[in-house]
Amino acid sequence: MAEVADKKKLQIAIYWGAACGGCDVAVLDTDAFILDVAELADIRLWPIAVDGKYADVVAMEDGELDLVLFNGAVRNSENQKIAELLRRKAKVMVALGSCAHLGGIPGLANECGREEIFHRAYLENPSLEESNVVLPVTEKKVAAGTLEIPHFHRAVRRLSDVVDVDYFVPGCPPAPDQIKAVLLAVAGGELPPVGSVVGASDRALCDECERKKDEKKVTRFRRPWQIIQDPEKCLLEQGIVCAGSVTRAGCGVRCPDSGMPCRGCYGPPPNVKDQGAKFISAISSIVESRDADEMARVLDEIPDVLGYAYRFGLPASTLQRSTRSQ
Ligand code: SF4
Repeated sequence: MAEVADKKKLQIAIYWGAACGGCDVAVLDTDAFILDVAELADIRLWPIAVDGKYADVVAMEDGELDLVLFNGAVRNSENQKIAELLRRKAKVMVALGSCAHLGGIPGLANECGREEIFHRAYLENPSLEESNVVLPVTEKKVAAGTLEIPHFHRAVRRLSDVVDVDYFVPGCPPAPDQIKAVLLAVAGGELPPVGSVVGASDRALCDECERKKDEKKVTRFRRPWQIIQDPEKCLLEQGIVCAGSVTRAGCGVRCPDSGMPCRGCYGPPPNVKDQGAKFISAISSIVESRDADEMARVLDEIPDVLGYAYRFGLPASTLQRSTRSQ
């Protein structure tokens, strides 16, 4: 890090919206580089690790932060408010990880309406005690005054649906090397064109996967644990549903190389407009039969087709959300 250690420290913030914390862990997974980050940058806000306050961010000059890494989708009014605040304060705003990039796993909630989600979580949940059933409110009077609690939006949105985003770093979570590359690019002033997807390839994952492809058709689909797989052969051609043909490469083929199918977390390559629609087309084309009933039977073996097709990108798709979440 000698090449950047003598420059003025970068001012950075790392924030999570609707997320699992995996992207924050990926920042820590940069291993010893995290020590260089401390030397390279002042971390002004990082809720998972640093006790920064929103009021401190409000007090900053606009553009005072050199870089904001925002992970997580926009699920509620707090996520949106902080996204807008950080956008004003940031020179460079990065959507980090699948949830900020495409809506991610939280985006699958767009299959349902808010009322259904609340009903399931707060009224029907088997772990609830009958005597302790409480629905969320947005205001609560307490001894010290009135607490404001974030509003749960009707649908999950990507970061770019609410603020301008300069760069996208895909992955669930992104590889630590991608995060390192972003920090070094900002530190070195060598940024790619605004709007770029950083740390990923423009090719499909199948182009980088070394498993053998024989264009073999399948007569049924299986879950990975239902067969002893051939470690040399394409998973899809063994009937294991793999999204490699409709997913951007750049992860290092980590899942197929470990015997697990690609689930699509890097999002579609540039030539694919709707990853889920393309996915359904790809798996339909590999079914042996051309008989409509037989094809329907084979495709019925895939549980939750929408969940497979749009696992990381329902809010970014043509569908975006169910009419129940309008
Ligand atoms: Fe590899 Fe999956 Fe593509 Fe087959 S479908 S070549 S296993 S990435």
